Amino acid sequence: MDKKELHAAKMREWRKNNPERNRENARRYRKRNGAKYLERHARQMREYRERHPERAALSVKRSYAKNPEMVEAKERRFRYSERGKLNSRLRRQRRRALEKQAEGSFTTVEWLHVKRQQNNQCAHCRIVADLTIDHILPLNRGGSNYISNIQGLCLSCNSRKQDRLETELC
Ligand SMILES: [Zn+2]
Repeated sequence: MDKKELHAAKMREWRKNNPERNRENARRYRKRNGAKYLERHARQMREYRERHPERAALSVKRSYAKNPEMVEAKERRFRYSERGKLNSRLRRQRRRALEKQAEGSFTTVEWLHVKRQQNNQCAHCRIVADLTIDHILPLNRGGSNYISNIQGLCLSCNSRKQDRLETELC
């Protein structure tokens, strides 16, 4: 066992022996690292659901069996929220990327971050608008679906760009 493993084993042992203090520490960590924690948690959950789609489906099914009205109301509320609309847009986008066999994926949080970094200004014409997802190197030309290949364009620039590079836009 090397040093790192030894440390991990010790930590595991400590957590087992101090469940309350572990919970309290975790709570304090979440409080201190709110946004970062939520982002990481959301990503871990998504990766878990992607790795175990059958288990994720089962868990939804179980809570539905327990309280169908609550689950339906929650889904409805989410679907019509800004976040829900954005999510379904991103889902469509992910499916498209998958069809084109592009490598990589990005999260809703990462996309929101890109928009914030651009101050909601179109990367091409600089107008402030409800930005749409653009692949800097288009998927059709072998671009990836990683966040590093994503920028925000206004709808008009995006529909003019399509499978071109930004430098080919006039
Ligand atoms: Zn534009």
